[in-house]
Amino acid sequence: MSEDWKQIESKYYMNVVRRQPMVLEKGYGTKIWDTEGNEYLDFTSGWAVNNLGHCHPAVTAAIKEQAETLLQTSNQFYTIPQLKLAQTLVDNSCFDRVFFCNSGAEANEGATKLARKWGKIHKKGAYHIITALNSFHGRTMNMVAATGQPHYQENWKPLPPGFVNVPFNDINAIKEATTEETCAVMLEPVQGEAGVIIPSSTYLKEVREWCTQQSMLLIVDEVQTGLGRLGTLWGYEKFDIQPDVMTLAKALGNGAPIGAFLARNEAAVLEPGDHGSTFGGNALTCAAAFASTSHIIEKRISAQAETMGQYLQKELKAIDPDGLVIEEIRGMGLLIGVVFKNEIAAQLVESCNQQGLLIHPTRPNLVRLMPPLTVTKQEIDLAISILQNNLPK
Ligand SMILES: *Cc1c(COP(=O)(O)O)cnc(C)c1O
Repeated sequence: MSEDWKQIESKYYMNVVRRQPMVLEKGYGTKIWDTEGNEYLDFTSGWAVNNLGHCHPAVTAAIKEQAETLLQTSNQFYTIPQLKLAQTLVDNSCFDRVFFCNSGAEANEGATKLARKWGKIHKKGAYHIITALNSFHGRTMNMVAATGQPHYQENWKPLPPGFVNVPFNDINAIKEATTEETCAVMLEPVQGEAGVIIPSSTYLKEVREWCTQQSMLLIVDEVQTGLGRLGTLWGYEKFDIQPDVMTLAKALGNGAPIGAFLARNEAAVLEPGDHGSTFGGNALTCAAAFASTSHIIEKRISAQAETMGQYLQKELKAIDPDGLVIEEIRGMGLLIGVVFKNEIAAQLVESCNQQGLLIHPTRPNLVRLMPPLTVTKQEIDLAISILQNNLPK
């Protein structure tokens, strides 16, 4: 397997990603191993998915037990894991109701359907949704239109109508783009895929006020920031707001594929027949998500992310004290972007990989660090020394 991986891929796959040259076989905590037995520190966490690390015992036990009991019923019936997960998410957030699906893009699709229904009921059929430039909301046709990045949009034009992309962190841009046709604003609290772009502390409050004043829904896309990543259970807490709708996916199942959107009672306008999913809220993925989410809440893992995030940022600053190579370090909790003066990300990622540290090149001059929230100081120290060794001298 290890020799002909690339040949197999190039023969059989749609060629849509550039992979690193390794076949990963097993993982535990922050560590992951390839088929040749090499050990790596995983500071990518499956793209901010494994918030409790790989194969967390509580999640593994829940999956094993559920796999021996029941995998799938349709949503025509109740299942215990789904009920428990719904209760946990609602009781620990500012929302009242939840819908389960299978991915981040799907959660955003559901939330934007809900916003259109809101527009129909309360705003004379308004259906435009304002989103931000440099955002990332997923890869379905609507979410490509929502995602304010030309390189994700170019090949798919004409885009479905109803999305307006405006500059992020600019309340006036939202105000100017608001018309009678606008029913909602959808934003990431911190833009993840764009390279960890953190808005001013007042931006989201101002957006909240504007949405309330205009009877528009405020949807936060917490697919990447949710479940402790920013140092609080939900990213919106960092900005001291209460949105109307929130979408989740990535870390929700700690590796089991599940998404969700939640809404406050006033905003929860969907009725029987409006929306649905065959696998959404499947017993297996809900069991994993319940185990993972309740562990994150009970063990206060988000507080751990806050502490470790500050430590990681402090250590990062120390590797280039004179700022010769690093332009900027941006971070909140354990979502951290390192911006370089030059376009060295691809080369740095490759050499770090070879020395046992997996990181993600988000832009030619930027890497994103998103270790599990359970990462230890020793693991951070090791990662820092590998990074430092591989910085251009
Ligand atoms: C990853 C991501 C998505 C898309 O999630 P998928 O599960 O890949 O569809 C949407 N929004 C944000 C903020 C993301 O980071």
